[in-house]
This record gives sequence, C-alpha cells and structure tokens, in this order.
Amino acid sequence: PTQTTLLEVNNIEVLYNHVILALKGVSLDVPKGGITALLGGNGAGKSTTLKAISNLIHSERGEVTKGTILYDGRNMVGLDPADLVKSGVVQVMEGRHCFEHLTVEENLLTGAYTRNDGRAAIAAELELVYEYFPRLKERRKSQAGYTSGGEQQMTAIGRALMSRPSMILLDEPSMGLAPQLVEQIFEIVARLNREQGVTFLLAEQNTNVALRYAHTGFIMENGRIVMEGTAKELRENPDVKEFYLGMS
Ligand code: ATP
Repeated sequence: PTQTTLLEVNNIEVLYNHVILALKGVSLDVPKGGITALLGGNGAGKSTTLKAISNLIHSERGEVTKGTILYDGRNMVGLDPADLVKSGVVQVMEGRHCFEHLTVEENLLTGAYTRNDGRAAIAAELELVYEYFPRLKERRKSQAGYTSGGEQQMTAIGRALMSRPSMILLDEPSMGLAPQLVEQIFEIVARLNREQGVTFLLAEQNTNVALRYAHTGFIMENGRIVMEGTAKELRENPDVKEFYLGMS
C-alpha cells in the first residue's frame, strides 16, 4: 500500500549567522498518520531540522539557504510560524518552554491562539487534552513553573494539541525525564497518533525508546542523514545496535 507523504524535506541546507553550515543537504519524508523518529547524537542537527521545518530558525539567526520543504504539497520555506500553525504544523520546543507564571490551564489556552472557532470548541479541545493528560487536569490551577519536569513536558504537548494540529514536531521529549515518565509520554504520543490521527516527527537522542514507538526513522550525523528505514530495520541494523543502542 502506498502511503501519503505529509511532509517532504528535500536537500535543505541551513546556515547559522551566515557562516555555520549546520545542515548539509538533508532529505526526509514523513508519512501521513505515522510516527517518524529523527535520531542522532548531540549536535547532529536534529533540532535544526525541526526548526527549519517550523521556521523558528529565524529567531536564532539561521536560514534555509537551499532546498525545499513541502507540507501537503505546499512549499513552506519562509512561512510565518503562526501561518504554519494555522495550516496544521506545530512544534514543541526542546526544554518544554512553558510560561512559568501562568497556570497549567492558561498555558494550554495559549495554544489555541490561532483558532477562531469559538469558546465551545476550545473548551472541548481542553477536555480532550485532559483526557490524554489526566495529570494536567489535577494540576490545572497550579503555576506551571512550579510543576514537575514531566508535567511541564505534558503541558507543552497539550498546548500544541490545542491548535488541533495535523502534525506535531516534538523536540527531545525524553530530555531530563526519569525512564518511567519517558515511557508514559511516549505512550500518550502513540495514543494520540492512533486515536486522533496526529502525525509526529520527533527528534530524540534516546534511540532505544524512540525506535520502540516510531514507525520509521532517520539517523543524522554531522548535519546529514546517514541512515533511514522502518523502526524494525533500524533496530536490527548492526551499526545502529553498536553505535546507538549500545549492544554490540
Ligand atoms: P541537540 O540534541 O544537542 O540539540 P541536535 O542534533 O539537535 O543536538 P542542533 O542543535 O541542530 O543539533 O545543532 C546542529 C549544529 O548547529 C551544531 O553544530 C550546533 O553547534 C549548531 N547550532 C545550533 N544552533 C545554533 C545557533 N543558534 N547558532 C549557531 N550554531 C548553532
């Protein structure tokens, strides 16, 4: 069966500060309705790839100097991040980025800023987020800055969900979280994918957990894609085992 490609990145280069070539021709495709993992070590270029897609790269003095990024067949290089959210693509930044002084619920509501379909629809969305993250419902009146790392990660994902996205770019969801919590977050990602049809592209250094939940994956090294395949193919690949799964 042929899968529809939702996002197609073709040979992009990214330059920071006009001098640092962080991506040296990256191509990848994200099947609609799937979970795709972008793997690799520190500084490989995973975050840069996500930020190039969401066009958040500009705020860090970076730019896409070559290549195309097609979402649903439309080129989105240079598109304003707010317009991207309207077209269904939203990024959850590495390090969670909650508004620390707002409550959990206020944080979630900020995610609905591009919507204009009324309060009832937004309230329904909030209930949906609480259904997937019951913990956030319990903590909804708490100031986000005082919630745990896991709760902040949940808030960041919940906030993204409030825009009713087709695709979520998730940067390093496991970062700084205890293994059990990482598992919980990935379980919820898998459920959102299955039950709500949300497509995920997630950057992860934790190859092990990512390849257990993703359907397909790409491995980056030094600004390039060096390997790609189904999650199963990658899990069974001897090089991946040796260098990324730590079991030679
Ligand atoms: P990490 O998980 O550590 O974030 P990564 O795979 O996401 O790693 P990137 O953050 O995309 O890697 O970094 C890729 C390269 O680009 C690195 O060499 C990094 O030093 C460089 N880089 C990243 N952000 C900037 C920036 N704002 N200005 C200049 N160089 C940057």
